This record gives sequence, C-alpha cells and structure tokens, in this order.
Amino acid sequence: MTIGEALAESKALLSGAGIENPALDADLLLAHALGVNRSALVAARRDSDALNPEALERFRAFIERRRSGECVAYILEKKEFFGLEFFVNKNVLVPRPDTECLVEAALSRLAGKKTPNLRALDLCAGSGAIAIALKSQRPDLEAWATDISQGALEVAKINAACLLPLGAVHFRLGDLFQALSAGDARAFDLITANAPYVPDGEIPGLSAEVRGEPILALDGGADGLDIIRKIVAQAPRFLLPGGSLMLEADPRQMPAIALMLESAGLEPGGAIKDLSGRDRALEAFQKGD
Ligand code: GLN
Repeated sequence: MTIGEALAESKALLSGAGIENPALDADLLLAHALGVNRSALVAARRDSDALNPEALERFRAFIERRRSGECVAYILEKKEFFGLEFFVNKNVLVPRPDTECLVEAALSRLAGKKTPNLRALDLCAGSGAIAIALKSQRPDLEAWATDISQGALEVAKINAACLLPLGAVHFRLGDLFQALSAGDARAFDLITANAPYVPDGEIPGLSAEVRGEPILALDGGADGLDIIRKIVAQAPRFLLPGGSLMLEADPRQMPAIALMLESAGLEPGGAIKDLSGRDRALEAFQKGD
C-alpha cells in the first residue's frame, strides 16, 4: 500500500467516526508510525511511495485508537505546552493551551516581585506542565509541586528530568498541602493550581477525548469545587504576605470561587482570561504586604 492510499483510507475512517481534524490527525499518526516528525514527513513525503508493512500496521493501530476517541496526545505520548514538549500518558491530564494563560499571568506576577528567593508551589501538578514551564522561564525560582497521584508524579518527574536541570523542581506526593512535610518550604510567593473542577453531573457529557483522561484529574464533586474549596481554605497558611494564589476553573465557577477567596480572608485580584477571552482563572493575595 502507498502512503497516499494509507492516508486516504485513514482520513475516511476518521471522518466517518466524526473526528474533527481527520487530515491533521492522520498526518500526525503516520509520522509517529514512521518515527519522524510531521514537518519531516510533509517535506519528504511522496504519496506514491510504498509504506512498509510494519509502519502500516502501527499506523492502522493508531488510527483505530483515534477512531475510538482516544486523543492524539496519548497516542503520540507527547503534548507541547509553553514551547516545551511534555511526555503524557493516561495518568495525567493533557496540558491545555488555556493553562498557558495561567503560566503567563504567574510569570508577570513574579516579575513584579523583588524578593531574591522566590518560592512557587503548584498543586495538582499532573504532568508538571505549570511548575516546569515556570521554572524554565525563571531558573531562580524555588519550585515545588505536589500531586495525590503517584502515576502523575512519575510523569512529572520524567518531564522535569528531560526539560530542566537535575533537582530543579521539588516534587512531593500527597493530598494538596499535606504533601509538604514540616521540613519542606512552607511559605510561598505564588501558589497555582489547575485542580479537578468538573461537576459530577457533567462527566458523562464530556467528549470521548476528555473522558479518556484520568477521572481523578477531572472530578471536582457535586459542584466541581470540592478540591478548590480545600485549597482556598488552606492556602492562607502557606502564602507569604502579598503572596498570590492563582486558581484555574471553569468560567461559570468564577463567582463562587471569588466568594470563597473572600471568606478565606484573601484580597481579591483579577480574573485571568483564556484564549477565547473567558475568565479561566482567579487570582487572590495574602493580605499584609
Ligand atoms: N475538561 C476541563 C478542561 O478542559 C477540566 C480540567 C480540570 O478539571 N482541571 O479544562
């Protein structure tokens, strides 16, 4: 079978299954089956070239997985975030472009701080995307990251090992702040979290791609705010005066989170917009600076 025929067959299968970008996905998966990147494939490809049988078999298996709704990032085992290539597997949520807006906002906040030893903590770290992106831009930062999932932390550590100098992020396993032991740094200039925030009732309605992601990273309880509520209640004990808390959530949850932040005694900051201009994260400050 030629490359052109294999691609045509796959595109038809993907569009028949209602996949949004069949041509792009087929290209990406073919490149992966051949062990090259997509631009190399596009540059070198001649549709009349024969596709070797092993690559064809790998390609068809990838197309089958995509057809059944698995997202491309899990099949490729990678996703670009903040210009860095992250390893991903089913233990972690695939980093979203919208979360890059949170990283941008966190970097501008840190840029305004004069303290020499800045400390940041990312909760629900998942693949490590936020903590690693921050540390890659601000090597002077003391970066901490916690996650309750052992499998997620393993992925985050692989990413840190590939993308940063040794020991650049302090990873801790455990439930939010409880992962930090008494000997760990406990006062932070910045705390970020892209916690699970999907309400229970909305989980069955998520797309097949999102439902393939770890439920632990998505399920936020009845109103989606269980974990965020815990973070907000504990954050004041871990923030330095003037320190900033940045929480990503669904735009519809912002008013409820703003109330929580206020009743926890934090100073309200602004909303952080996502790529479609909706409020995707809220910032609040520890009083007393
Ligand atoms: N599906 C949501 C998203 O796409 C959920 C992420 C989360 O719960 N943190 O952002």
